[in-house]
Amino acid sequence: MDTISERYQHVLSQIRHATGIAGRPKNSVQLLAVSKTKPAGDIAVLYRLGQRHFAENYQQEALLKQQALAGFNITWHFIGPIQSNKTKAIAGQFSWVHSVDRLKIAQRLSEQRPAHLPPLNICLQVNISEESSKAGVSLAELPELAAAITVLPNLRLRGVMAIPEPNSQYAQQRLPYRHLYQAVQDLHLAGLDSYSFGMSGDLKAAIMEGATMVRIGTALFGERDYRV
Ligand SMILES: *Cc1c(COP(=O)(O)O)cnc(C)c1O
Repeated sequence: MDTISERYQHVLSQIRHATGIAGRPKNSVQLLAVSKTKPAGDIAVLYRLGQRHFAENYQQEALLKQQALAGFNITWHFIGPIQSNKTKAIAGQFSWVHSVDRLKIAQRLSEQRPAHLPPLNICLQVNISEESSKAGVSLAELPELAAAITVLPNLRLRGVMAIPEPNSQYAQQRLPYRHLYQAVQDLHLAGLDSYSFGMSGDLKAAIMEGATMVRIGTALFGERDYRV
């Protein structure tokens, strides 16, 4: 499991395997390669192997890599915390934003989305561990926030993203995703087709509970030099 190529094949086979066990259609789970802290050269390696969706946590770090990889046909996802003064840049640089948890941020992204680009795809970050210190809208506030965002003209609400408390027990990993999946079904909103669930440590549990996008960093690129 040394090279990026070997890790990539391994992650793809884990996704295929879990999708099969879950009884879900082939290709119903998309791999997002989380490239934060990793150089543009690592992204280029994965790109040549066929990967097209990449996710970044920091706007400025992402911009440098996007400039370095300008000729590449990459779909960029933003998955990090969003400060108000970064919404304009984020609205112009990305196709997807997974970390929206406040109406004010959504309104700014909608207003600042460049007119020549299609609507920005949005996932609401939900705090399913319900810790006050963590980012994300609570399950209780999800219906109201989702309804308010569906009317914003330059956004397209696609679903939810969650980062549960780390848990090494497979059964425990599945529970928060199951609750959130059901909560989204209960919204009865049209067009919600995306569940951004699962990281390197809980990919299988996430796929069993309906993930349509898994966000994988470490298992593809190796350990990061610093934790974020
Ligand atoms: C860093 C990060 C990931 C990837 O985590 P790994 O454990 O390295 O796979 C996924 N989602 C978010 C929001 C992240 O910040």
